[in-house]
Amino acid sequence: MNRRYRKLRLEKRNRLLELAYIDPITGLGNYNAYLARTKEKLEINSKKTIIILDIDKFKTFNKKHGHMKGNELLKRVGEEIEHSIRKTDIVCRLANDVFGIFLVGEVDIENITRRLNNKISQIKIGDIWYNLRISMGVYICDKEEKDVQSIIDKAIMAHDSIKGKYHVPYGVFTEEFEQKMIRESEIENMMEDAIKNKEFEVYYQPQISTKTEKMEGAEALVRWKKDGNIISPGEFIPIFEKNYFIIKLEEFIYEKVCENIQEMKKQFTNIPKISVNISKESLLEKDFLKKYMKIAKKYGISPNNIEIEITERTTVDSNMDMKEILEKIKKKGFSIAIDDFGTGYSSLNMLEMLPIDMIKIDKSFIDHIGEKNHTINLLEIIFLITKKLNLKTVAEGVEKSEQVSYLKKVNCDFIQGYFYAKPLDFDTFKRYIREN
Ligand code: C2E
Ligand code: CA
Ligand code: CA
Repeated sequence: MNRRYRKLRLEKRNRLLELAYIDPITGLGNYNAYLARTKEKLEINSKKTIIILDIDKFKTFNKKHGHMKGNELLKRVGEEIEHSIRKTDIVCRLANDVFGIFLVGEVDIENITRRLNNKISQIKIGDIWYNLRISMGVYICDKEEKDVQSIIDKAIMAHDSIKGKYHVPYGVFTEEFEQKMIRESEIENMMEDAIKNKEFEVYYQPQISTKTEKMEGAEALVRWKKDGNIISPGEFIPIFEKNYFIIKLEEFIYEKVCENIQEMKKQFTNIPKISVNISKESLLEKDFLKKYMKIAKKYGISPNNIEIEITERTTVDSNMDMKEILEKIKKKGFSIAIDDFGTGYSSLNMLEMLPIDMIKIDKSFIDHIGEKNHTINLLEIIFLITKKLNLKTVAEGVEKSEQVSYLKKVNCDFIQGYFYAKPLDFDTFKRYIREN
């Protein structure tokens, strides 16, 4: 009696344990099982590789083919992974369409990821073949690790690093990558206070007319001064674009520019047109234009004094109706420049269709002027086209006198670069206006 009762209790306990550790859909271990099983191996072995495998657009698959098919697919993917790894390795389903793999000992990453990709990119359910895309995050670890969650996090970060790169099937977590992530979170922790503490400052870089040799425009460029150091916009702008803080920063910069224009108008009869960089994130904001018009009004500034710079990359974004957005901006009186021209694969058709005033030719083209096998032919073609379309041109990053003479020869309209002036703080910029 007693023994029978104990046996029953043991069976019940095992069943409960099973429920707690087994994923009913694939029959593999679940997230809890992954934590428990890998923990053992983490402590025993020295070299281990963690792969997080994610099925792209699984939601769409579910919608299209139904949940039953979706479940079958997960089961088949689990099987294919199991067949691709060794008996001593581990695979579990961690969440919806995310599998966790744990490989013990030396591993050829290129090989295993290719094998997984080949097996899973075409899956047969019943008689039908389905095409899938997977993406993976890899963390190779040869030091002692105690915390399973932290190694999973690293593989997830490696996976996140290839988001949007459709031709890259996997990302690997490296030390360098880790440093970058740490820096990124440092910057994210500092950014809100930076606005409050007025750490962002606007610098102005003159744009010189090739005809008159006078400054007719200037580009507003942000500087972040933190504890006596300058953090480069090349470092923080991409982070702010990702986390959308760029919207707040650009509004702040724009307001500062309006304030500065108001001040310049009081001091000078002739002031240069100021161009501001505006990201796709800001352009897509619902009340972007309304907000920017309101700020201009607050400082008594006409949009005629301001040029909006958007990168060529932004113009080719298929998620936006660029023509409509830019036409609205243009109608208010702003002029529009295409930044980093030549790097973003826009079509000529785009140039004709969009209401653009100015093309900013990227520094990479200017750098080659004067070299033996330079891209001058390409530059000449760019100038021919812009003239034909009645667009003004600025050459960016001009540093040498031979570049200046070439640009004058081909009738480039404006020159921006260290040859004439670096970006200047507002006081120095006002002095520059006075003296030139
Ligand atoms: P960008 O818009 O292409 O700005 C031109 C960059 O080239 C600036 O770098 C400028 O300082 C640099 N530059 C100008 N002339 C020369 C030259 O002769 N030689 C060399 N080597 N460099 C030159 P900066 O200020 O570091 O800005 C980097 C990028 O950060 C900008 O590239 C722009 O994309 C972004 N950025 C800067 N300020 C803002 C801003 O207020 N808003 C947004 N969204 N982006 C900004
Ligand atoms: Ca720019
Ligand atoms: Ca540029």
